[in-house]
Amino acid sequence: MRIVLLGAPGSGKGTQAQRLVQRFGLPQVSTGDLLRSAVARGTAYGLQAKAAMDAGQLVADDIVLGIIRERLAEPDAARGYVLDGFPRNQAQARALAAMLKAIDRPLDAVLLFNVPYGEIVKRIAGRRTCSKCGAVYNIHDVPPGAPLRCTQGADHPAPVQRPDDNEATVSRRLEVYEKQTRPLIDHYARQGLLRAIDANAPPDVVTSRLIGALLQPVKPKRATKKKAARKPVAKRKTPKRKPAAKRKVTAKRKTVAKRKVVKRVKRAKATPRRVTAKRRAAGKRRARR
Ligand code: AMP
Repeated sequence: MRIVLLGAPGSGKGTQAQRLVQRFGLPQVSTGDLLRSAVARGTAYGLQAKAAMDAGQLVADDIVLGIIRERLAEPDAARGYVLDGFPRNQAQARALAAMLKAIDRPLDAVLLFNVPYGEIVKRIAGRRTCSKCGAVYNIHDVPPGAPLRCTQGADHPAPVQRPDDNEATVSRRLEVYEKQTRPLIDHYARQGLLRAIDANAPPDVVTSRLIGALLQPVKPKRATKKKAARKPVAKRKTPKRKPAAKRKVTAKRKTVAKRKVVKRVKRAKATPRRVTAKRRAAGKRRARR
């Protein structure tokens, strides 16, 4: 199964990707996580990506595509994967399609997470991430006063706020989503891959909606209304009638031409024939006979 999770930052893609991973045993491929790990390790990719990430902008396509190409070539991705946060613009979607076409393994579904922006801002403000395993939590989900801990291991540090989860960066990221990522909704809808989910609900509810959507039979491609092929026109028995305006003009022309002929005949009759030497000789010959 090759799945893309599409949605604004903070719409719950990361949380749900982890649940799909557990349910289907597929790896989660999050470009955000891969980039953060590259930044933390200080790799060449990481150093180039950091400034764009801190500013809430998209990291350059060639970096992201390089990272994704390497990741999808790993053995655990052979059976499928859950793409989280990729593709994020048309160029990335086209590059992904070309990559998958080359190995004859197309996408199976694109799951769209619909969440109102007001809710997204609230969620991101409360989001905390484990720096060791990447597990995502929200301070709004723990009882007031209770400490927030990572449940993935006793030795994991307390989850912290991501540097790009501050209010100013969040509004930039939402703008970027609107401009560059949202057009992918239509892109994948046209291919019949899109399944939209109301993701404004508790995580368990969203998970069951996602699984329900994944198990739905694939919808046929949205018909881009093709013009019905024109039937071959049967051979006309009667000659095609000209349009009325053309008929009128033709009739007028015919009358004028007729009148000209009549005039020419009348003129010829009225004009006495000139008696030429040739004609005089012919007359004499006729008289002799
Ligand atoms: P995320 O964890 O998916 O919210 O991503 C965090 C940041 O990583 C984004 O704001 C971008 O700066 C960068 N990023 C993640 N995925 C991509 C991508 N597919 N293309 C470009 N930049 C990305």
